[in-house]
Amino acid sequence: MKYQFSFRNISQKFTRPVITNHGVWEIRESVIIRLVDMTGKVSWGEIAPISWFGSETLEEALDFCHQLPREITSEIIFDIPNQLPACQFGFESALENLQENHESLNYHHLNFSGLLPAGKAALNQWQNLWKQGYKTFKWKIGVNDITEELAILNLLIDQLPESAKLRLDANGGLDDNAAKLWLEKCDNFPNQIEFIEQPLPVDKFSEMLELSNYYSTKIALDESVATLQQLENCYQQGWRSIFVIKPGIVGSPSRLRKFCQQHQIDVVFSSVFETAIGRQAALKLAAELSSNNRAVGFGINHYFTGSIPNV
Ligand SMILES: [Mg+2]
Repeated sequence: MKYQFSFRNISQKFTRPVITNHGVWEIRESVIIRLVDMTGKVSWGEIAPISWFGSETLEEALDFCHQLPREITSEIIFDIPNQLPACQFGFESALENLQENHESLNYHHLNFSGLLPAGKAALNQWQNLWKQGYKTFKWKIGVNDITEELAILNLLIDQLPESAKLRLDANGGLDDNAAKLWLEKCDNFPNQIEFIEQPLPVDKFSEMLELSNYYSTKIALDESVATLQQLENCYQQGWRSIFVIKPGIVGSPSRLRKFCQQHQIDVVFSSVFETAIGRQAALKLAAELSSNNRAVGFGINHYFTGSIPNV
């Protein structure tokens, strides 16, 4: 089957910058692709790279789209190289939309984790999210001085209702000593802290494996498993704690499906700040492949004006 193909790039400013250990992120740019089949049925997909996280750059994604013919086939889509994981996701999910019955799509049973701002701003923000129904929160650490952040954690734990769960995300920004301090601290709050995400940089895999065996607080790999090849490598090297999967940049949905069906992994699905198009495709995968009750990391609506941008 042949499909008419077109695309355009879009950008959206966050209502407040996303601050992580990687820096300050103010504008989300992505590429929206459009496929039309021979019957005239239309479908959209989204390519939303985060190059500092391990995917291709926006420019590489645009270059790829520019060199494609106006008419493409599913063979072209399944041949997208692994160096373009966000493109693999965008094109394959657009293709799947054409082939599937939309009524079977249901992800309303999923719980969402709400993203708190870094630093002490979190102390004034969780209440709003709690009122909106969030029971799980994520807070970025490794952004400010550790003593200050540990003190804020104490306050946050004191303030949060007992049934709330907190995830800490260091974005690979801790050193060995800081990681141990955080894990020791979190071991005191087994009921409140769900896990620490990516305490050390990607090249410190064996250190994180050791930490995950030593401390009772769970560790989730995120940057270390940004793409499918990394995910497969970490699994083969013995990682059995949590994997954070960002469908928008991890790569081919069909390969991801296969991997998750072959291996019983503890997984948390997470957003890449995509628009409604990428979000729907990512949540569909999350609903299909989640085998646990962990909240999905898609509670980021408050980072966009109004709701998630519709294009
Ligand atoms: Mg993370």
